[in-house]
Amino acid sequence: MSEEPRKSGEPVNGCVFCQISAGRIPSIRVYEDAEFVAFMDIAPQTEGHFLIVPRAHYEVLAEVPDAILAKVLPLARRLSGAAMAGLGFEAFNILQNNGEVAGQAVAHWHMHVIPRRAKGELAFKPGAPADLTKLPFVAENIRLNIA
Ligand code: AMP
Ligand code: ZN
Repeated sequence: MSEEPRKSGEPVNGCVFCQISAGRIPSIRVYEDAEFVAFMDIAPQTEGHFLIVPRAHYEVLAEVPDAILAKVLPLARRLSGAAMAGLGFEAFNILQNNGEVAGQAVAHWHMHVIPRRAKGELAFKPGAPADLTKLPFVAENIRLNIA
């Protein structure tokens, strides 16, 4: 696992998720431990939409230490399983936005768990077929930059 230097993870003044983690802003929690809080999204995409948030403040995926990332998917599996059992749904999306252009509104890295009960609830449409003359070059530009 690579552990290159990261930002500190210290709380940031004015960050809503740091405030929620510290209990200074109310939240409706589903889970908490020493490193994570999970709470209901205040503007849910679907009923049961909740967020998994490391207590440490990192803005985007590139900053999050491997040790935190290694725990977040097992936790997402555990909590989504609880939500499926408790709320009675069988499908869900895990969503994670990085950067404002990608729709990230809160600059404290987090993961969404969004229950799905019907197709079309989220505006995520299939893309147009890829241009197969360009696709190998697009892939090459990724491959060449893997650290
Ligand atoms: P993102 O666009 O990935 O940054 O998602 C931010 C999410 O945080 C949105 O779904 C918001 O509805 C949610 N959110 C913002 N403020 C609060 C809050 N105080 N309590 C719960 N959820 C929040
Ligand atoms: Zn924060």
